[in-house]
Amino acid sequence: MPRIPERIPFNVPEAHGAEATYVRKAVEGGALSGNGTFGRLCAEWLQRRSGTARAFMTSSCSAALEMSTRLAGVGPGDEVIMPSFTFVSTASAVVRCGGRPVFVDIDPETFNLDPVAVANAIGPRTRAISVVHYGGVAADMQAIMDVARRAGLIVVEDAAHCVGATWRGRALGTIGDLGTLSFHDTKNLQCGEGGALLVNEPALVPEAEIMLNRGTNRAQFARGEVDRYTWVGEGSNYLMSELNAAYLWAQFEQADAVTEARRALWRTYWEAFAELERQGTVQRPVVPDECEHNAHIFALLLPDRARRDALIAALDEQGVQAVFHYVPLHSSPAGRKLGREGGSLAVTDDISDRLVRLPLWAGLGEERVARVIASVRTALGACAVAV
Ligand SMILES: *Cc1c(COP(=O)(O)O)cnc(C)c1O
Repeated sequence: MPRIPERIPFNVPEAHGAEATYVRKAVEGGALSGNGTFGRLCAEWLQRRSGTARAFMTSSCSAALEMSTRLAGVGPGDEVIMPSFTFVSTASAVVRCGGRPVFVDIDPETFNLDPVAVANAIGPRTRAISVVHYGGVAADMQAIMDVARRAGLIVVEDAAHCVGATWRGRALGTIGDLGTLSFHDTKNLQCGEGGALLVNEPALVPEAEIMLNRGTNRAQFARGEVDRYTWVGEGSNYLMSELNAAYLWAQFEQADAVTEARRALWRTYWEAFAELERQGTVQRPVVPDECEHNAHIFALLLPDRARRDALIAALDEQGVQAVFHYVPLHSSPAGRKLGREGGSLAVTDDISDRLVRLPLWAGLGEERVARVIASVRTALGACAVAV
């Protein structure tokens, strides 16, 4: 029997050490709701590492995005400018406040918001800009913040991909007024389902705290600032449970090791595909000098959709799971109904047709990376003949 090589999945949600120990500790501690010992450790770590005014642990990045849209004052009829090339949560957070996503085009190299397209899409109903940093590579924050400040708009950074990534030395998610992180099990650091809200504008902290605590002043009560707690504002339950926080704390302890391991594998891919790029077969990722990325994604661009799809199919046959990214939101059924296009989306459509992401997780290892690289080379050789 020929040996069938092990399949290489696109992502593996890994434990890095003390996850089970800390979850057991949380269970033995007997208090499993939000804002517990591990929850506070996680929030303080994010504050210390990022420099944000206040970090709140949430049940997901989607929950943090909903809070952000509310805190930005988005209401019925208001518009929020965002890329179409993003995950649905960026847009659905706006829709859930009664607002309308306005989809604009992206830069063809970083796949992030094009600041000129943003400026052109601003209208009388525009309230905020939602920035996504694709793969932990920062958008052009200088230009975007300039546009936002001139127009008096709030900036929300959907930094779901970004833990450990910086722009001009600043943590992504801390440059706009509000930032959100994801700890979903597809992200660099994970606890199954989880997220965080970074409130960078100190004036928004009290309202965020009430919103997070189901519309009550329970946090103030816990600090002894009021003698009873009650319903004081709009809110819901957006808290991360202590079980998730315990798991996540173990991941935070290994954050630097995880980022370094991913970056090393990312660099191996990057170097290996230099020759194919020179031949014009693929295009490698572009990281601007002012960005330190966190190796969340390694994506190649193929010359056209047919060759991209053929590569994914050929890799699958060789036991390598590679995946496309984002059906653009402006072309999705809900996006067409609930949002609108703020100018041409030609770059978005083009990138979405041609992009492929290769397997990447901290424990992937150089041996498997070498197998993925060899499989890509074989597949592209075969595709070149087939197309
Ligand atoms: C993963 C992701 C989200 C959603 O994160 P959850 O924690 O799953 O809610 C939002 N935006 C982007 C860009 C993402 O990649």
